[in-house]
Amino acid sequence: MSETIFSKIIRGEIPCHKVYEDDHVLAFLDIGPLSRGHTLVIPKEPAATLDALSDESAAALGRVLPRLCRAVMKATGASAYNVLQNNGALAHQAVFHVHFHIIPKPDERQGLGVGWPTRPIDHGDAAALAAQLRDALG
Ligand code: 5GP
Repeated sequence: MSETIFSKIIRGEIPCHKVYEDDHVLAFLDIGPLSRGHTLVIPKEPAATLDALSDESAAALGRVLPRLCRAVMKATGASAYNVLQNNGALAHQAVFHVHFHIIPKPDERQGLGVGWPTRPIDHGDAAALAAQLRDALG
């Protein structure tokens, strides 16, 4: 995959407000926060989207994400937050290096605004789709 701004941050060529680092993961404050404490958590592996990430990096991210959420809550005083992970330009991804957003939701006005246009499930289609998904998992 191509070089992104996050590769430069990992290498220390671009500064960031670092929150956490280990062999596989880096966390730092978002430069355009939706609320105070908006934190990005990224693997050091340069995968563009989550589906392209190795099990090792995924496990390292999963291990540390809850701890980072607790730290963001403790430091900001927020008790609500969203964890957001965008894949693909259509899904609002702007930087093509996997990243999780931890976004405190201190009140109605700040943080992530979510549209959730649900429809009732079609059970006929759902049965076929679940079978397809099990198949795809192999
Ligand atoms: P996406 O829409 O791809 O999920 O979000 C990318 C995020 O990266 C945005 O929230 C944006 O503010 C953040 N971002 C982009 N460039 C930089 C940067 O150079 N430094 C930091 N700290 N955050 C960045």
